[in-house]
Amino acid sequence: MEKFFTKNEKETQKLAQILAKEILKTPKSTKEALVIGFEGNLGAGKTTFIQAFAKGMGIRGRLTSPTFVLMKKYGNLYHLDCYRIKDSKDVLAMDFKEIISDPKNIILIEWAEKIRKILPKSKIWIKFKILGKRERLIIFGVN
Ligand code: ADP
Ligand code: MG
Repeated sequence: MEKFFTKNEKETQKLAQILAKEILKTPKSTKEALVIGFEGNLGAGKTTFIQAFAKGMGIRGRLTSPTFVLMKKYGNLYHLDCYRIKDSKDVLAMDFKEIISDPKNIILIEWAEKIRKILPKSKIWIKFKILGKRERLIIFGVN
């Protein structure tokens, strides 16, 4: 587990871009998609992180929050927001199994704890804690 403190939005964006670049240069060994789950309260910085991560991956244009559409696709990068999800079945209905089974895909999931049971065992987990108006604790874990 690795912990990071950020003092503002920019520092969170920088951290996300560093992670994206690390992932780009790390050879993939799993047969499934790379899943990154994001946990943390509203306003903690999950979307901010994901937007910067996508930029670091070379995705052009700004990602908009998928809160109302659940899932957005940018090439091989998928952005899900499960805030409004009541049942994991709603996610499975979107060919999620197929998306997860393609090792080319990278899947970024806000409120991932809500659908934990349908996620692969091996994934990156990033937890956000709000410490102050702009201070955030960001904890990287793997499981
Ligand atoms: P979430 O997706 O977790 O609900 P957002 O990324 O949409 O959160 O919103 C985070 C808000 O907090 C943004 O308005 C952002 O500018 C602000 N903010 C302030 N400090 C930080 C920080 N250290 N890291 C990320 N966002 C921050
Ligand atoms: Mg969000």
